[in-house]
Amino acid sequence: MNQQITHSNQSATDISAVLNRGNLQAAVNIISNLIDNQDYAKVAEGMELWLQQPKVLPGHLCLLYGFALNALGRCDGALTAHKQAIVEHPGLANAKARKESTTIPNYDEYESPCIGCGSNDSKLAYVCNQSLSVNNFDVLNPIRVWKDCIDCGLTYTSNMPTAEALEKYYSANYLAQQPGGPLYNISEEGREQSYIKNSETRLKVIEEISGGKGRLIDVGAGRGTFVKVAQDKGWTAEGLEQLPENVAYAEKRWGLTLSQMDFFDLDSQEAYDAITLFEVFEHLTRPWEALKKCADMLSPKGVLVIAMPFRDSPYAKALHPAKDAWWSEPAHLIYIDTQCLAAKASEFGLHHVHTEEVEGAGRLDTYFTKVR
Ligand SMILES: [Zn+2]
Repeated sequence: MNQQITHSNQSATDISAVLNRGNLQAAVNIISNLIDNQDYAKVAEGMELWLQQPKVLPGHLCLLYGFALNALGRCDGALTAHKQAIVEHPGLANAKARKESTTIPNYDEYESPCIGCGSNDSKLAYVCNQSLSVNNFDVLNPIRVWKDCIDCGLTYTSNMPTAEALEKYYSANYLAQQPGGPLYNISEEGREQSYIKNSETRLKVIEEISGGKGRLIDVGAGRGTFVKVAQDKGWTAEGLEQLPENVAYAEKRWGLTLSQMDFFDLDSQEAYDAITLFEVFEHLTRPWEALKKCADMLSPKGVLVIAMPFRDSPYAKALHPAKDAWWSEPAHLIYIDTQCLAAKASEFGLHHVHTEEVEGAGRLDTYFTKVR
């Protein structure tokens, strides 16, 4: 590529100039460079200059234009650009759409109200093409539409994947995401050691807040490490886990019997002194119902821990606005900030007592007790 063109001091007029000369690759290079430098306004200005005369925008340019508009908070424009990208270039949709390039899905069909409170009062928060995600499988919509609920503060996926699509996604990703698998550059032993250490840290905080040990349930227990560590520390601990592969692993590795069931099917008459949800909440299709159920299940001295990626974590705030991988993570259905979670928890009689980062990467542990 021409070095002069990929230099960082480019302007909006450079974009329209190279496009007028028909040099699409040069335009892509300039725009990519500007996006890397978070100079989104120049991208938008350059595209608008060029689009003053009606013309068809090539798919790749639409995609980059969409990135820039999202980062500028112009999400309506971003949605149009991302839809246009796939119409112009079906290869930017998923593999299924590539095979059947005449049947581009109509994303509006999937629009849903807030999955937390059912409100239709929302605004667009982000639009992304998740087919670019390394995790993408054919089962998901290539365009992902995120909305902020005006009523409850939840940021949710408004074109929700179907339950079948999610199940297929989880089982397809199971092997890839295991310790030592291609998504983690760390050995299985190293990963397990890190889980054990994190579990010990978390139990210490729980015990400091609750003043003792008792009955504990880990919801979304994964491979059972936290339940095992809690039992070793003297807790009466059990775990719920939906993936059969994880249930089998926990049995083999730790001799643990995790209950393979949905949290909502659990008999909530039981009172627990600790309820933990690590990396679970962001996957839930009924988050506020789950939070209320946790509140109802907690004993008077009980502690609830929710660890998830929070929008107001320092890590999230530092993410590149146009290349925010969180938005295209297919299995994440909601995001919130700690204040929103605390406000909702207080509606259910819970008090936010503590927040700390144990896992890193923007995932904060938030601790709640019953309001006494
Ligand atoms: Zn809502």
